[in-house]
Amino acid sequence: MRLHNILSEPPSLEFKEINGFSSNRKIKIGKREKITGRIVMRFSCKECEGVVSFFSMGDLYYTYLSENLISLDCILLCDDHPGSFVPIWFLVQSEKNDIRGTKPSVRILKSSRKLLDNVALNNDERYGVFTELLEKAEHSYRDDLGAGSMVYLRIVLEQTTQQAAIAVNIGTHKSNGKPRAFSELIKEVDAQCKILPQEFSADGYRLFEELSEAIHGGCSESVGLRKYEHCRRLVLGVIDNIRTKREMKIARDALWSSGGAV
Ligand SMILES: [Zn+2]
Repeated sequence: MRLHNILSEPPSLEFKEINGFSSNRKIKIGKREKITGRIVMRFSCKECEGVVSFFSMGDLYYTYLSENLISLDCILLCDDHPGSFVPIWFLVQSEKNDIRGTKPSVRILKSSRKLLDNVALNNDERYGVFTELLEKAEHSYRDDLGAGSMVYLRIVLEQTTQQAAIAVNIGTHKSNGKPRAFSELIKEVDAQCKILPQEFSADGYRLFEELSEAIHGGCSESVGLRKYEHCRRLVLGVIDNIRTKREMKIARDALWSSGGAV
């Protein structure tokens, strides 16, 4: 694996070993060096009227920041439409102080990009209309905004659960017209069609309740940051279960159609 492969993937907190990319052992802070390879990401190009690959334009250069940090920015471009492009920036961290070494383990510590008029997120893949909300949750987390990250996860968890309830004819409102308590609703849906990932419901909902409290309870920044990874796993697990269960077809259709997200 090489640096441009890591930069082409969704950001992950896991460090991955790559082939060394620097040939200059004496590079100074703030200096730039060329690397080989192209970054590729999928976006929806409005000119193409569909999801296509966007490639980094020209040569890639990183800026050396320290023994475990580099910065890199570039423009990703639709091959057929030069007017469809995405400016993007990465901060890459190595696990040890060996970012210029022969086999550094690295991850994207932070990234930022701007989707301009001609480009939209690729909603066709695994998380459909929730791609954007999950991405906002991740960005909030990486910016140390724990409470904000929980807000985005909450919207996703509530919407998916409500659609799942509708799919299996479980009422989402009480007789007085008010919405049912979320924790009660999700347990009933789960009892009927197992939408919670095994690890969250196996212990009698203890873990689910703890995370649900963080997601719903207006938690502090520090609690949100501490529980974010677990909560994200919970939310992604629910989405995956809805995607793959036959009885969830109605929920899938509602959530993966264009009008599903907030
Ligand atoms: Zn295009």
